[in-house]
Amino acid sequence: MGAIEAFTYDLHCHSTASDGVLSPAQVVQRAAANGVSVLALTDHDELAGLAGAAEAARAAGIRLVPGVEISITWRELSIHIVGLGVDPENGTLTSNLDYVRSSRGRRAERIAAEFDGLGIEGSLEGAYAYAENPTVIGRTHFARFLVQRGIAPDVASVFKRYLARGKPGYVRHQWADVADAVAWIRASGGRAVVAHPGRYKLPRAELRRFFGEFKAAGGEGIEVVTGSHSPEQYGEFARLAREFGLLASRGSDFHGPEESLADLGRLPPLPADLKPVWHDW
Ligand code: AMP
Ligand code: MN
Ligand code: MN
Ligand code: MN
Repeated sequence: MGAIEAFTYDLHCHSTASDGVLSPAQVVQRAAANGVSVLALTDHDELAGLAGAAEAARAAGIRLVPGVEISITWRELSIHIVGLGVDPENGTLTSNLDYVRSSRGRRAERIAAEFDGLGIEGSLEGAYAYAENPTVIGRTHFARFLVQRGIAPDVASVFKRYLARGKPGYVRHQWADVADAVAWIRASGGRAVVAHPGRYKLPRAELRRFFGEFKAAGGEGIEVVTGSHSPEQYGEFARLAREFGLLASRGSDFHGPEESLADLGRLPPLPADLKPVWHDW
């Protein structure tokens, strides 16, 4: 692979099947137009967008890698594990994702109660109005509602003021365990990758402990180049990949043209000495 990539890989993005704003087919078409030739759609805790994305990918002449981004809780912290190359028909994966999604409705009610307490009413209905797939109702849908209400100028500001950990609209939630999420991904033939590790603000010792557990559970990769990382963080997590012997991944985490830090396919290549997660695809 090295500096000249024969293919442009984008292995992390979202559609209306979770909290993206474009349909699965629109995501694929935009990726293809941006020069992506291998795309993974990785909706939160959901596989429902993959069939439409696969059909659009065939029409556009690009390769779709079936993916998912699973929400986990590790020591009170929300962390995301991306599964790449999963089988969307695998019963272990589908039934466990059904279970993970089933808690989102109750969580949404608790978030809405926090907003009620702040005098911001109607947020539950407001959030669901933005959730094309109501089973994946989440914080991004609340954020879009607050923007529409004029309470904040954009989604990122809503997170900063209300929805990030420690802010008044944030509620604690128990997601899957790291070992379980990795096991479901592996059971369905996929490869587990830690999503945007720079976002968790973990002290280094804790971060190493987490990666130790992830690897022991059968996790194989780490996102090094992502829309959520600064160029300094590309270097920091490249070093972690080398230290732990992890495969490196690259993905925009695209959610929509107006919300995302990186557009589909618009990221620098991985550092040339790292082994890409796609090395044997
Ligand atoms: P949830 O699964 O409901 O906890 O929502 C997680 C999603 O919220 C992430 O996948 C992002 O799309 C979004 N998100 C989290 N933190 C931020 C942030 N600081 N700014 C913008 N979006 C964020
Ligand atoms: Mn999201
Ligand atoms: Mn994520
Ligand atoms: Mn994501």
